[in-house]
Amino acid sequence: MKRVRLAQVFDFSKRILLACATLIVAPLAVQAEDSLVKPLTPIAENREPVIQHSEQAAQASEKLSALEKKFKKKPNILVFLMDDVGWGDPGCYGGGHTSGAPTPNIDRLAKEGLRLTSCYAQPSCSPTRATIMTGRLPMRHGILRPPMYGEKGGLEGEVTLAQVLSKAGYATQAVGKWHMGENKESQPQNVGFDDFYGFLGVSDIYTEWRDPYFYPEIVNSPERTRLVMKADFNKFMVRSQKGGEIENIEEITIPVASTLDEKWADYSIDFLKRQAKSDKPFFLYHCTRGCHFDNYPNEKFKGKSPARHPFKDVLVEIDDVLGRLVKTLEETGQLDNTLIFVTSDNGPEMETWPDCGYTPFRGAKGNTWEGGMRVPGIAFWRGVIRPGRTSDGLFDLSDIFTTSCTLAGVPGEVPKDRYIDGIDQTSFLLANDGDSNRKFEYYWLMKTLSAVRVGEFKYLRAATSTTADDVVNMGGFSGVAESYSYGKFFNLYLDPKETHSYLIRKLVYNEVLQSALKKHAETFKKYPPKLAVSVE
Ligand code: CA
Repeated sequence: MKRVRLAQVFDFSKRILLACATLIVAPLAVQAEDSLVKPLTPIAENREPVIQHSEQAAQASEKLSALEKKFKKKPNILVFLMDDVGWGDPGCYGGGHTSGAPTPNIDRLAKEGLRLTSCYAQPSCSPTRATIMTGRLPMRHGILRPPMYGEKGGLEGEVTLAQVLSKAGYATQAVGKWHMGENKESQPQNVGFDDFYGFLGVSDIYTEWRDPYFYPEIVNSPERTRLVMKADFNKFMVRSQKGGEIENIEEITIPVASTLDEKWADYSIDFLKRQAKSDKPFFLYHCTRGCHFDNYPNEKFKGKSPARHPFKDVLVEIDDVLGRLVKTLEETGQLDNTLIFVTSDNGPEMETWPDCGYTPFRGAKGNTWEGGMRVPGIAFWRGVIRPGRTSDGLFDLSDIFTTSCTLAGVPGEVPKDRYIDGIDQTSFLLANDGDSNRKFEYYWLMKTLSAVRVGEFKYLRAATSTTADDVVNMGGFSGVAESYSYGKFFNLYLDPKETHSYLIRKLVYNEVLQSALKKHAETFKKYPPKLAVSVE
């Protein structure tokens, strides 16, 4: 008996030693791949070169094959795009309870999926949306800034993700905010979507001039109100079907605006339920109304967030919407065959404070400081993406285009006649310890190539104003664009607020950053920029 006990003690001690050894080596596991030293592999003249990870790509491919055998169709793709939600707003990024708006559903997907800490949008909404839809940067798809109040120009002439997926046999559904052009040729039903239910513009153009707090000079003048009503922009929530015409459903007054996220959620849920019985995989592009200014919370959520402020109430609601969509996927047996990507279209809009979100970084919506472009990015896929992952690997929202083409089994459908900035990140998302295939992130401030990032380093040669106010996130669109004589160099790990440029100490990195900018600029020689919505 005694001997047995001793053996048990020995065995137990061995386990403790093993556990200690694991703990000792564990910190090494969090050391991510050093993308700075990784070579780039060219894949085509019109494509961004990539960091290749063959083993990870093979693992991702195996997972996809096994899934197709099980479900007998390609995987579904759900892009859940929030509006003006900052990097720091969801709980899993430090917000949530801390800032008076718990986001349990977003947090759950992050916890059970992959949380990206360096996911990049464009500085404002329409440029980002078109980048997701085309895999191309704004200087290529031409939507350099949001078209406002019915301005002409949009997605027309681009090859869209909806078109590619539709051709690959997907049901394509867009719900919510569009804002990639109101003109007929740029409307969702004419750029690849089977069906669209939402609005064509952006929240504020429907409601701001109806609100006596913001526009008393219009609300109190029937003549001025009539003038706005006559202006040539659509003022309705609309519906359209492939090849058809836009049908006006309901005029978007302030009370109607407060119900949109609820109506859009119901519409998407109906779509998901129908899809469960379909042989076709789906692409659902669900774009929330919240939390773009001005936020008028749904009666069910008004004053219900701990912060009791409109932005926070609406954030709580859109988190609930996400939860409802995920629940529907689960109940209809589709959750295991659906990639869910949750993100936002730009940093917080600080010029409408306090109706705005939060970022711990410098700057805000409208500029190329980190706060303007770095957004939440969560990839969730039950049984496919290993739970609990976090990565600081670079992910640009243009990568959604190329990655989705691979998931749909049509990587060859990525256009060859135009430059594609998106990188196929399938292996990054799906392999158990996937690394980003993207080496560089480029920052464009309208027509100006503003900065480049590699690893933790960012070289900034032009940006919007540099007043102390910017550091506490004020500004955004209102600053003055400045071009620096020598550029600024930041270590984003040591200096996320981008306040300590130490270029003079770090010239050793000059070559890698300068040549990246040069090569990127050179791509525009063969593939000239396009200006669809721009400044003069
Ligand atoms: Ca936005």
